[in-house]
Amino acid sequence: MILLKKDFIFQDVNKLDGVGQKLSKYLKKKKIEKIKDIILNLPYSETNRTRIFKIKELEIGKINTIKVKVKKLNFPRIRNLPNKITCEDETGKIDIVYFNSREGYLRKIFPYDQWVIISGKVNYFRNKYQMTNPDYVTELNNQDYVLQNIPKYNLTKGINEKKYRAISEQVTKKLPKINDWLSEDFVKSHNLLNWNECFQRLHTTDESKDIKSKSFRRLVFDEICANFLTLSENRKRVKKTKVSKSFSESTSKKIIAKLPFNLTQSQKIVLEDINQNLRKNERMFRIIQGDVGSGKTIVSLLSIANVIEAKYQCALMGPTEILAQQHFDLAKKIFDNTNFVVEFLSGKTDTNKRKIILDNLKNGKIDLIIGTHALFQKKITFKKLGFVIIDEQHKFGVKQRSELARKGGDNCDVLLMSATPIPRTMMMSLYGDMDISKITEKPISRKKIITLSKPEKKTDELWIFIKKQIKEDNQIFWVCPLIEESKILDYASAKKKYDLINKKFPNKVGLIHGGLSKEEKNNVLKKFLNKELSILVSTTVIEVGIDFPNANLIIIENANKFGLAQLHQLRGRVGRGNKESTCILLFKEGLSKNSIKRIKILKESDDGFYIAEEDLKLRGFGDLLGYQQSGQKTFRYADPLLHKDLFELAESFILNQNEKINEKKYDFLLKLFDKAEIINTDEI
Ligand code: ADP
Ligand code: MG
Repeated sequence: MILLKKDFIFQDVNKLDGVGQKLSKYLKKKKIEKIKDIILNLPYSETNRTRIFKIKELEIGKINTIKVKVKKLNFPRIRNLPNKITCEDETGKIDIVYFNSREGYLRKIFPYDQWVIISGKVNYFRNKYQMTNPDYVTELNNQDYVLQNIPKYNLTKGINEKKYRAISEQVTKKLPKINDWLSEDFVKSHNLLNWNECFQRLHTTDESKDIKSKSFRRLVFDEICANFLTLSENRKRVKKTKVSKSFSESTSKKIIAKLPFNLTQSQKIVLEDINQNLRKNERMFRIIQGDVGSGKTIVSLLSIANVIEAKYQCALMGPTEILAQQHFDLAKKIFDNTNFVVEFLSGKTDTNKRKIILDNLKNGKIDLIIGTHALFQKKITFKKLGFVIIDEQHKFGVKQRSELARKGGDNCDVLLMSATPIPRTMMMSLYGDMDISKITEKPISRKKIITLSKPEKKTDELWIFIKKQIKEDNQIFWVCPLIEESKILDYASAKKKYDLINKKFPNKVGLIHGGLSKEEKNNVLKKFLNKELSILVSTTVIEVGIDFPNANLIIIENANKFGLAQLHQLRGRVGRGNKESTCILLFKEGLSKNSIKRIKILKESDDGFYIAEEDLKLRGFGDLLGYQQSGQKTFRYADPLLHKDLFELAESFILNQNEKINEKKYDFLLKLFDKAEIINTDEI
């Protein structure tokens, strides 16, 4: 037996009795590497082995426990025949059958004419009860070990219940006493449990299956806190002091005066947030959250004007070539009457041009560089980089964000822009390290998008409508259902649709899907942008940010395959010009109640944040857009929907903390949830 110390649980599993190289390998497959992972690996159910059954009462197909006398041991010398031990109680007989077990071992655990306790799954074979490779066989004086409700864990090949139990009980039954980081008062008043009791109960009762149980809620609260603490620490690290930027806004004001529209109130507020932040001597680490079409780009360009005025260089990065190119075109137009030097750089920029650009970034001749992630290559150095803006950043996790902040250098402010609507509960967990500016209103000039739904079999009714649109020189998106994992299937369905539509409107239809190379995709998109094509059949490969001012009809097939938030983003591809736009959702027949509800929400609202909240309610956390896209699984136990109150509690708890996080108090918590490493990376 081992005495557990607090730090012990952060050691490798092979420190436990009975865990050798082979077993560690199997455990690793289940992501159990450290001893604490055993604590966090909760049982999903339990097996009741408490009752001793008489043989005549046995339940075929179930796991039963029996107390029987060993009556006959049979070890056939013929290969492939199993070893068989016949046992009995006063009500009947049972055969215990073993494949591949050694005779010596079996003779030891089945002493002739002695009573034994056996627990395993009951079969019935040739008119006889039988157990094959039972889970437990033990002598009577050890029966208490078996006669229990035994937790069931998700296991993998190579580890059976008995083996895992022998390992896990070394930990779960003797958890080290932890100095709880939550006070007793706090725990009590919020109906939680202290740490030790919580984990004890999670492994020894069925509370791990009850997400509302005190113990599970405590675990969830800890997980959320670990996440928030990490972000809050990241925030402190990033927001170091910098030289404040000074500018008069004269250029940006001139630009605003010349815009063909008035900035929305929201845009003005966000711009002011940013300006204040630029002028502060604390680095900016901010995200603009604004629905598709809310006008984030112009806000970023106006801030850029200010930073250039303050004599710093700026870098604006888009997620794809085409989107970056659009930003570049807009920047050229907007900065037309200034002396700003603006350049474009992507993976496709030719070598000579590239060399010149790199030189000019280094010697400071370029004020603004716009491009793809090619901008962040090591080789690229700036003379005086002061501002980095990243558009549509949903693919960045916390770690990448802090790396990004580091790249810019000490005086570099960082601004991210995202159109991925995040429900309120998730805001802190995803962006707790950043300041958040929200653009909440859309330009007034924007025409509403009419959203309709139609059963698929009535697709024919659309052709007239489509013809009319084409005649009026409008453009159309036709989005095909997709199964994300399968590029081939995507292609097949989009291709089929393309063939069909192309027959009806020859030479007017383009096709774009995930199977195309970047270059091919760009070519098709450019053709569509240049109005050489009227209809673009696509999977969801076209990113949301691109401006297609002339597209005013989007048809989405098999619309119930998509989440609400995603439908909303797809819909946002139209309605960017000044024409009235339509979004048609095609469904397979027989809409479910849920689908009807979803359509209703989309028809009623064009507020991405509202839709994200509803999406969360309807689909649950796991399917949330942005959550999936970010590729990071933020929580293992916490669910923003089911534990909303705990998210709120954790938020106020963290905000009210005066202690520094790197105080020892939270070490254990952060290590438990693998957050310590994120915090302990090099200084930024
Ligand atoms: P997003 O926030 O999705 O990136 P964009 O910045 O691409 O949105 O803006 C979408 C369109 O709206 C652009 O064509 C832009 O010129 C226009 N726009 C931006 N702000 C306004 C405004 N205040 N009034 C009218 N149109 C605007
Ligand atoms: Mg955009």
